[in-house]
Amino acid sequence: MGLAAEYFGCANWGEYVPRMLEHLARATHASRAYVFENHLGIDGILYTSQRHEFSAPGIESQIGNNQLQSFPIETGFARWCQTLRGGGVVQGCVETLPEGEREILLAQGISSLVVVPVFVAKHWWGFIGFDDCTRRRHWSEVEIQALRAAANVLGASVQSERLSRLEQRMFQMATHDELTGLPNRRALNGYLRLEQARSDRSGSPYCLALFDIDRFKLINDIHGHCAGDHILKQVALALRRSIRQGDWVGRWGGEEFLVVLPATRIEQAYQGIERMRQAVERARPEFAERRFEVTVSAGVAECTAGHDSVDDVLARADAGLYEAKLRGRNRTCVTNAEQAHNLSTAALVQRAIRDGQLHPAYQSIVDLASRTQVAEEALARIVVGTEQVLCAQEFVEIADRLNLLHRIDDILGRRAIARCAVEGDQRPAIKRFINLSGDLLRRPERVAALAQHAAALCPRLGPGRRTRALVLQITEREPLGHAHQLRTTLAPFLDQGFRLAIDDFGGGYSSLGYLAELPISFIKIDRELIAQVRTRPKSRALVASIQYTADSLGITTIAECVEDEPTAQVLGELGVHWAQGYLFAAPTLELEQAG
Ligand code: GH3
Ligand code: MG
Ligand code: MG
Repeated sequence: MGLAAEYFGCANWGEYVPRMLEHLARATHASRAYVFENHLGIDGILYTSQRHEFSAPGIESQIGNNQLQSFPIETGFARWCQTLRGGGVVQGCVETLPEGEREILLAQGISSLVVVPVFVAKHWWGFIGFDDCTRRRHWSEVEIQALRAAANVLGASVQSERLSRLEQRMFQMATHDELTGLPNRRALNGYLRLEQARSDRSGSPYCLALFDIDRFKLINDIHGHCAGDHILKQVALALRRSIRQGDWVGRWGGEEFLVVLPATRIEQAYQGIERMRQAVERARPEFAERRFEVTVSAGVAECTAGHDSVDDVLARADAGLYEAKLRGRNRTCVTNAEQAHNLSTAALVQRAIRDGQLHPAYQSIVDLASRTQVAEEALARIVVGTEQVLCAQEFVEIADRLNLLHRIDDILGRRAIARCAVEGDQRPAIKRFINLSGDLLRRPERVAALAQHAAALCPRLGPGRRTRALVLQITEREPLGHAHQLRTTLAPFLDQGFRLAIDDFGGGYSSLGYLAELPISFIKIDRELIAQVRTRPKSRALVASIQYTADSLGITTIAECVEDEPTAQVLGELGVHWAQGYLFAAPTLELEQAG
């Protein structure tokens, strides 16, 4: 029984049988123990083949004996078949066996043998047996019972293996498409339900895309269904190979495929789907010595968490697909106009970073009382050729969604530092404001690299002379984490004498804590407060209190986006120190890198 438990623990019978045969042979002092499995040939004849054997030391093994593979057992051994099929035991001294059997058995050096049948689900499956090659031997009832027990264990485990294979096959058939091997519509519906539930719980969006093969009916009509099937398989393969890790692709029906992109925004989804579309275009499948130019069209849509149902998103993806077909096929479309605009902006930002089309525009900051320039801020612009295409407000949000803001900060920061290094001697009093986004601050190694760049460019006049003119502007619009952690991240800059400014103060997350914990030198008052300071008493009171706080902490205040003289007057009356905006100067573009 202990043995049976050990054997049943194995994944398949092939694993434990060699050990079982050895145990049995050693316990009974048999020369060999073996298992034969029956199989029907295509000629309808029953064959048997030796599958496993244990042979005692000094006994010649028969596992390599070709005669024992695909042996037509009913020819010459019909007596065995009859006995074993009926559940009986074949045993005896070889010398006394019928002549046809004797010859083959003597050739294997056998003196006596015993074999018992193995049944699987009541069908005779094969047999298990012992040889003795050293003596004529009578097999005891105990030895025969041991063989029978082993035959039962073997039969039961072959049966359970068959069942689990059948189960696997049924599961595969229920959830996969037979032609392409991809998950079928039923399985995809399951993934969609899971993804929808995850999105509802977490509040993060997901995307869906529908692919449809272009002009597929023509392929079927001209080259036949076989060609069509082959091409369907090749398209499925190209899609499967080009999919991002973690996304799902399946056959939605006919020549349509669905891709589920969990926890993904539309910008990333669009790029992923475009890559898949291009992969299909490059695949150029071959059939009957002919290459086919096969393309697909795709529609992509984003599910807004807590707002859309799966059907809403599917309908939008389908509408995108329809539009892709209308616009000439072999393309990816989103239907929502705003999303389509965002996607073209996303592509523009990526290209700008890659091709060096991102440039700083410097906007002056003036002293409100004297109206003379005291500082400047580096603002990001995308410029293609000599034409300014986008200003920062138009692409910052998209760049943020694409996690590209740190790249933009890095490019702008390096340009502003270089300008300071070159011009610092001519205009030493001018402060230079550089923006550091949360996206950059979350990457301390990038911050350190930028600081190192500054240290290499600005060291000549002794510690801090130039760098004191450089001001890092961090925004209040997004939470930046604990002040002490921020201080650690910024240390490579602060140690060089860089100053700190808080941007959008009063417009976002309350960062009064930062005023206490970080060496803040400047506060830029939020543009909404400035816009209302003349007309809304509450805004005026808030600006006054910010000014009071700043004065008591020795911090310089700067009003953002000042566009008219009356506002400048009120700000002056409230004691605001500096101001920036179109009233004083528009940003001026710097196309060439300084130095
Ligand atoms: P469009 O670019 O507008 O999508 O053109 P189309 O020819 O692909 O048009 P449509 O979607 O109407 O045609 C789909 C065809 O796909 C029709 C159908 O016979 C064929 N199809 C669907 N499933 C299979 C399949 O499993 N094997 C083959 N060979 N053809 C299939
Ligand atoms: Mg089609
Ligand atoms: Mg179709």
